[in-house]
Amino acid sequence: MRYYSTRNRSEAVGFAGAVLTGLAPDGGLFIPAEIPRYREAVGTSLGTMNFCDIAFETIKPFVHPEIPDPVLEDLIHSAYPFTAPLVEAGDRQVLELFHGPTAAFKDFGARFMARAFSYLRRGEEKPLRILVATSGDTGGAVADGFYGIPGISVTVLYPKGRVSPLQERQIAGLGGNISALAVEGSFDDCQRLVKAAFGDESLKKRLVLSSANSINVARLIPQGVYYAAAAGRAFAGGTHEDGEATPRSRTAEKVPPASGRKGGNFRVVPGQPITFCVPSGNFGNLTAGLYAKKMGAPIKLFIAATNINKTVPDYLHSGSYEPRPSRATISNAMDVGAPSNFERMAAHWSLEEMQKMIRGVSVHDDETRRAIGTVHKSFGYFLDPHGAVGWEGADKLWEQKLLEDGPLAVLATAHPAKFGETVEPLTGTIPMPASLGKVLDRVPQARSIPADISALIEAL
Ligand SMILES: *Cc1c(COP(=O)(O)O)cnc(C)c1O
Repeated sequence: MRYYSTRNRSEAVGFAGAVLTGLAPDGGLFIPAEIPRYREAVGTSLGTMNFCDIAFETIKPFVHPEIPDPVLEDLIHSAYPFTAPLVEAGDRQVLELFHGPTAAFKDFGARFMARAFSYLRRGEEKPLRILVATSGDTGGAVADGFYGIPGISVTVLYPKGRVSPLQERQIAGLGGNISALAVEGSFDDCQRLVKAAFGDESLKKRLVLSSANSINVARLIPQGVYYAAAAGRAFAGGTHEDGEATPRSRTAEKVPPASGRKGGNFRVVPGQPITFCVPSGNFGNLTAGLYAKKMGAPIKLFIAATNINKTVPDYLHSGSYEPRPSRATISNAMDVGAPSNFERMAAHWSLEEMQKMIRGVSVHDDETRRAIGTVHKSFGYFLDPHGAVGWEGADKLWEQKLLEDGPLAVLATAHPAKFGETVEPLTGTIPMPASLGKVLDRVPQARSIPADISALIEAL
């Protein structure tokens, strides 16, 4: 596959070029020259194929011929010992994306990216050093994704005292090729330091530096896999069994649905394509879903559900794109006022095309809290604040008659136990998945540094 910059269609690079550079030299994002289609035999059997086989068929055209088939197969099996079950929850389906080691959907992108980097840099003498600044979630997924990967080490910068104890253990508790720096400052300071390090000539001579930024195509492409797998399953009329970490009350069956709100009819029906409701911030996840639809997965529509940072829903409604500063919410991984993947969406599709495929909706914190409480009370299912934005967003559109009845799945992008301080006051104790329980036993080992570049250079 060839990749172009969103800002310049004349010069193309291969998969390795796009992945190892991350951002195009002109400041644009890399997009594939074309979106491939599933072979007919694959398109019609997505409902019965296993997750790794769907991953192979989905990713292969994007990396061919630079990653040979047998290598890709190994890479996928090593990246995905977990899947993304489509489970029934109350009156609809939930696509659970939190069964990976850091209990958030970013595991799907980060784990593939780490292995792709390692393969594409095979034979290089100098080890690669990845620098990431994080406000919490990304750092954990990147650290875990690259843990133990040969030829690559990772340094995560996070604002000291401003991430949760669980997040700190995910970032700073691994050791090995992952090191953590607790910066005495804010997330913005961390980002500033990373930028300054990339511009420092003395570091460039000493180290090969790279980033694991969320706009990298290596993180985007594998996210199409769970859409295709879930859409195929639903089209065949089925769902999956609960996973080990599915956050359901043990008494769920006994809970009668709370009266009051009447919802839509969202259950799967054989032969009917599904609508996905995607809690969105930087819009990488939604972009990957659009790719899966274009590849031929049986998807009817997307709902882009945001918190009050509603730049894209406003664009879909008014046709004018107005990025703005972000505002803080309880679904903080989606606090993005200028979503970077919008540039990618706009390079592929016009406003009219987007309006046909995506419906936008925004949900404020009171509504998010209410959804967490009522979904638990009515159905015994625990939502995290991000998934709750999706759940509530679908109900809002249905009530406004902007969404028809029909199969619907909400993407649950993180496990609720990651956000216990917000969720538990509304639901009571959340069953803790084993993967997160293990993380709590780790001892965080970060080095503290002041928020200045000389301290970072010295630490590296
Ligand atoms: C990153 C993240 C999101 C937002 O995903 P985008 O691809 O940036 O739109 C949503 N929920 C959780 C839990 C996240 O970590």
